[in-house]
Formats: sequence, structure tokens, C-alpha cells
Amino acid sequence: MMKKGWDEFEIGAMLRTFDGSIDNIAGTSQDDRSYSENSSYTASVADWRLIKPIFNKDYCIDCQFCWIYCPDVSIISRDKKMIGIDMDHCKGCGICAEVCPTNPKSLIMFPEQSEDEAEIASWPAKDEEK
Ligand code: SF4
Ligand code: SF4
Repeated sequence: MMKKGWDEFEIGAMLRTFDGSIDNIAGTSQDDRSYSENSSYTASVADWRLIKPIFNKDYCIDCQFCWIYCPDVSIISRDKKMIGIDMDHCKGCGICAEVCPTNPKSLIMFPEQSEDEAEIASWPAKDEEK
């Protein structure tokens, strides 16, 4: 496939981030991922991040809001299922957590150095006032 420049796409064009299988893609290192030809995967803003989103799949309803709103196409979704976050490209803006509609949220922002498993184990309870 011919590689296109950013200004050669139709307005509103949607690009797939990955080609081929995405099994366990969130846990696969960047070098081992099959990024699509037109993905700007070499341009990472991950080192901007001071806080990071952690995903708790137990509360996720696969609404896809996070995927739609993420400005860096860092939400990995396939067949309308939220799979995880591409931390090599997430810049930590927090938009995904802001738009997540579940109670408790399925995406919450934590300090960059937080351990995912520990934060998921102490996830906030449902807010009864909402
Ligand atoms: S924090 Fe921002 S860049 Fe990272 S996954 Fe969420 S919306 Fe995307
Ligand atoms: S916005 Fe929240 S509930 Fe919706 S797909 Fe993303 S993580 Fe799941």
C-alpha cells in the first residue's frame, strides 16, 4: 500500500491502527505490533504523560465513548469491544476517563508510577448519589 501524507486523506477518514491479529495487543511491546502503514505510530507523545488511564474491564459496557474521543487513537477496540490502552501513544490527557459513563468509571486517571493491578484491586465503589 502507498503511504499517504496526513493531508492526503479525506476529511473524516478513519484509519485502523493495527493490521492483522490484535490478540493481547495491549500487552504486546511496540516493536512486536503490526501497526498499519498509515498509522503515525513512530510519533509518540507518551513521554508527555504525568498521569495515566487505568482500565477496569469489570465495569466496562463497551460503549466506545473512550475510543471515539481519544485524541491520540490510543484506545484499542475491535468488534465494538474495548480491549485496552496503547500506552506507547497515550499522552495522559484524561479525556477517556472523563467521558466514560459507568458508575464507577471503567477508566480512571492515576499517577504515572501507579501499579495497574493494585489500583484495580482497590477500585472505587459505585457512587450511590449519581
Ligand atoms: S488519557 Fe487521553 S490520550 Fe490517553 S487513552 Fe485517554 S484519551 Fe487517549
Ligand atoms: S468509555 Fe468506559 S464503558 Fe465505554 S468503552 Fe470506554 S472504558 Fe468501556
